[in-house]
Amino acid sequence: MATTGVPSAPQIRLPPPRLFVDGEWCEAADGGRFEVLNPATEERIAEVSAATPDDVDRAVRAARAQVDTGEWSRVSGSDRGRILTRAADLIERDLETLAALEALEVGKPVHEPRTSDIPNAAETFRHFAGWADKIHGRQIPVPDLRGRTRLSYTRREPIGVVGAITPWNAPTMIASWKVAPALAAGCTVVLKPAPDAPLAALHLALLLEEAGLPAGVLNVVPGWGNVAGDALVRHPGVDKISFTGSPEVGRRIAMLAGESLKAVGLELGGKSPQIVFADADIEATLPIAARAIFANQGEICAAATRVIVDRRIKDDVAAGLVEAARRIRVGDPFEDGTTMGALINESQLERVLGYVRAGLEDGAELLAGGSRLDRRGYFVEPTVFLGTNDQRIAQEEIFGPVGTVIPFDDPDEAIRLANDTPYGLSAVVWTRDLSRAHDTAARLRSGAVWVNAAGPPDPRLPWGGVKTSGIGRELGLAGIEANTSEKVVNIVL
Ligand code: NAD
Repeated sequence: MATTGVPSAPQIRLPPPRLFVDGEWCEAADGGRFEVLNPATEERIAEVSAATPDDVDRAVRAARAQVDTGEWSRVSGSDRGRILTRAADLIERDLETLAALEALEVGKPVHEPRTSDIPNAAETFRHFAGWADKIHGRQIPVPDLRGRTRLSYTRREPIGVVGAITPWNAPTMIASWKVAPALAAGCTVVLKPAPDAPLAALHLALLLEEAGLPAGVLNVVPGWGNVAGDALVRHPGVDKISFTGSPEVGRRIAMLAGESLKAVGLELGGKSPQIVFADADIEATLPIAARAIFANQGEICAAATRVIVDRRIKDDVAAGLVEAARRIRVGDPFEDGTTMGALINESQLERVLGYVRAGLEDGAELLAGGSRLDRRGYFVEPTVFLGTNDQRIAQEEIFGPVGTVIPFDDPDEAIRLANDTPYGLSAVVWTRDLSRAHDTAARLRSGAVWVNAAGPPDPRLPWGGVKTSGIGRELGLAGIEANTSEKVVNIVL
């Protein structure tokens, strides 16, 4: 493993560090601000306005007015599609800016958002642009009503005001997963990005403004979770909360949304398995398996950090992952050749190091990494353990670059171990046996399964988890269904 020199961010034009409410860039009602740090240097990048409950209220009222009776409520599906297509074009135009903002505020190597997150965000807008004029109900045959013919049909209507609450790890992409389907469906949005990384979301708002979105249709209220986020969840003018983040906060949101009977979509954490069967093509498996653990510093909900491997090939797989970890260049997110950046903040760094200690305490064998880098910034070495599935490093979400190799003796045991987790977001299966691939995919309890590959969610496919990984689906047709409600109209002829 190599480290690079001093971080050297390019000159990036930052978006206005303010709230975006009803088409205006404004300060918080009480003038409050919070600091955004560069995790690679621990230096301040910006001071951003921190939304108060009053600001959230203004944002929700603006969104409410547009969805109920405003200009947006009369914009046709094809015109909504045109705006979303323009947004996709503008995201592509500003690819370098958005990638640099993510590298700067999240600490990830700039090539990752450049080649993955930002193109995915543009694709998401383009995909949902295509849906905007294809949202329709059904005509359902029903028996006559007291001898009179009945025509029953449904209308898919916008669910209303969507409160979108997002994490810091993939700020443009995850905001796009929420904003694009909601706008395609005719909803309006109040977006609360995470305080660690609000700048990419603010830039996205600039682009949607430029794309022609009327004032008040998208509002962005950066701020603290327990203030701005809480106010959004409790607000009676919000019809749905679409949340991505930790299970702890997700539980709280579900309880509060239950009190006010709001719809909720929860995309929560993961502890995803990769099962490596003995017949897998090991050479092809190892680089992707390593990426599935370490990409984005392991700060990915679907990071496949439990490598459940046939005991007969355990040594080869473990050695391959150790070698891959050693080849990772940890360092300056803007330097060519860097393949892993900094963790988001000090408490995340402490959390990861705490799990390394927990692994050792629980009897796992440390094969690679495990230490903080001796330099400024929240850098940690890519880490590989050999362990068992009952250890804390295998049961709890670390959200850092730590993988555990867990041997199994027969295929049923592999599936049992893979399912033995509170989570169920995603899973990876490595095998050349077609029947085994289908059988295993069917028996894994998770929202998604990859066979012989791993990658980010595709905007055309439903995305979401089971068990502690969440409730509901976003993206694809499911993204339209999640942002609409189906009304029945009965006409007695
Ligand atoms: P987090 O739960 O701490 O915060 C997420 C968002 O919720 C932030 O905007 C935060 O400000 C807000 N928030 C915090 N407290 C709140 C409250 N009381 N009321 C309303 N909002 C509140 O999560 P994080 O640390 O930002 O992100 C990491 C977590 O996100 C991990 O568990 C990860 O697995 C999960 N995640 C899931 C997915 C997915 O698609 N399933 C994707 C990315 C991240």
